[in-house]
Amino acid sequence: MEFELIDQLKSWLKPDARVNLGIGDDCALLPQTDGTESVVTTDLLLDGVHFRTGINPAADIARKALAVNVSDIAAMAAIPVAAFISIVFPRSWSRQQAEELLQALADSAREFQIAIAGGDTNTWSGGLAINVTLYGQVPKGKAVRRDGAQPGDAICVTGPLGGSFAEKQFRFTPRVQEAIWLRENADLHALIDLSDGISSDLGHILRASGVGAELDAELIPIAPAAQVGESDRTPLERALSDGEDFELLFTLPPDDVERLRKIPEAPVTIFPIGRIIPGQGCVLLDAAGKRTECIASGFVHGFDASGQN
Ligand code: ADP
Ligand code: MG
Repeated sequence: MEFELIDQLKSWLKPDARVNLGIGDDCALLPQTDGTESVVTTDLLLDGVHFRTGINPAADIARKALAVNVSDIAAMAAIPVAAFISIVFPRSWSRQQAEELLQALADSAREFQIAIAGGDTNTWSGGLAINVTLYGQVPKGKAVRRDGAQPGDAICVTGPLGGSFAEKQFRFTPRVQEAIWLRENADLHALIDLSDGISSDLGHILRASGVGAELDAELIPIAPAAQVGESDRTPLERALSDGEDFELLFTLPPDDVERLRKIPEAPVTIFPIGRIIPGQGCVLLDAAGKRTECIASGFVHGFDASGQN
């Protein structure tokens, strides 16, 4: 539903020379005259959907609000620069509660080396809402988009996946330095951050690039957190669809993978998990060669039948 609505809006818009890359990627790209491009992303986080004010400390909520945007800038292989933060506080909050959140935002901005350049503040009868718009920079033409994957490319991720709801969804480190190092040292064809789970986010790359994919089940790195608790899904299913891992997924010529993995000072661990093939859709191959569809069951922030989030 969410994606259909965005596609509908997109269909009503004409190409605009002031926008190099618009709706459909992790960030938009806007032209500049100084050899750079501006990279802009925005994310809205809501109490009860993305965090719970009764459970998650202000420091975690504030950090996440910035980190998800920093991760989207990393997903273009760009550098984050300055944030605008709009907040709607619940009317019931005390001044001290509000200050605690603002202090945590300032601390997190320092951690991620971004400026806070503005925003907007309101109160209402609903829950806490935080919107961050993050501006970044990339050398002109160097942003890595979702639409460049080519048949024959290796598909790689930067870390183990799954089970992030236990803890990592508030504690992850956006892969900014890793993305820039990869861009500078390899011929990245496509790049995305894993916010909704491989099966959903790889699907964005496949559709944007007009290609398909084969994943090797035994190569998917599974996080320890996906191997404990819960029993109705296997650890592999959780690694493929839990979401909120905020690792990077990228495609590149297979020769580059071998070369990069031999560089001892590489600041990033590279896990090859499959390959891009002609066609469409994603197939999972198990060790015995059995093929199953990877269903796009990632965590999508949509609306349920009652119209509630
Ligand atoms: P991500 O998960 O990487 O944050 P989203 O799924 O939120 O990305 O958004 C997908 C794409 O749709 C992005 O390019 C985003 O800018 C665009 N988009 C989402 N909501 C809107 C909206 N209300 N108006 C215009 N563009 C939107
Ligand atoms: Mg993203």
